[in-house]
Amino acid sequence: MKLVVLGSGTSVPHSQRASPAFWLETQCGSILLDCSADAAHRMAEENLEWPNLDAIWISHLHLDHCGGLASLLFGLKWAPQTQARRKPLKIFSCKGIERLLQAIDSSNEYGLFKQPFPVELHEVENGSDDFAILPGLHAQVFSTPHTPESLAIRLTDGDASLAYSSDTGFSEGLASFASGVNLLILECSFHRKKPVPTHLELADAMRIAKIAEPRKLLLTHLYPEWDGIDIEAKARELWPGTSIAADDGLRLEI
Ligand SMILES: [Zn+2]
Ligand SMILES: [Zn+2]
Repeated sequence: MKLVVLGSGTSVPHSQRASPAFWLETQCGSILLDCSADAAHRMAEENLEWPNLDAIWISHLHLDHCGGLASLLFGLKWAPQTQARRKPLKIFSCKGIERLLQAIDSSNEYGLFKQPFPVELHEVENGSDDFAILPGLHAQVFSTPHTPESLAIRLTDGDASLAYSSDTGFSEGLASFASGVNLLILECSFHRKKPVPTHLELADAMRIAKIAEPRKLLLTHLYPEWDGIDIEAKARELWPGTSIAADDGLRLEI
């Protein structure tokens, strides 16, 4: 698998960090992990094959994670690059995205689901059976302590595995869920003294890393309070494994 960080930031506007989105290439196709308002433009900026995107994963309904989905569908509907496309676009999401998209769609007759190609929308929830996000690409979800619908996802592509926490509070269960993955994409919203229990600060993130022992840890969802701090050095003080601070444009082989 190959990962491109499209947005390492949060909902807070930032000159260096777009809102959350990751481009993932697998043996079975490409997936967009979360779709912030910045995601569409960032895919183009990174010269990614966005007209052929196979699937989208939406972790929860906060707008920094799903606020770009309607506008991406609107863009795909009218883009010259997608007019000859017939391959379906699969959207897998937490509960509630269909209602949100329908509300936007019906507010102005955008026709977001009337595309040159089929759009297949699947909502999953905690306790849902494992599913194939793409044929051959195994997916499992885990409910995280953030909002009621929030889900982490674990993907297995042949020998390679990846887990993406999206937004979460501390959870030993999440650490077990991500155990032994090749790459754990973990939110690390705050350095210390987090203002809410529904996000992680560095010490929480590294506790999760200690339990999960991923081969590599990618720290993301970085609020501006991280500006000017050597995140990787701070992480190494708490966990000896490989911690990488996400940056927009960072590319990783998994
Ligand atoms: Zn967020
Ligand atoms: Zn959130």
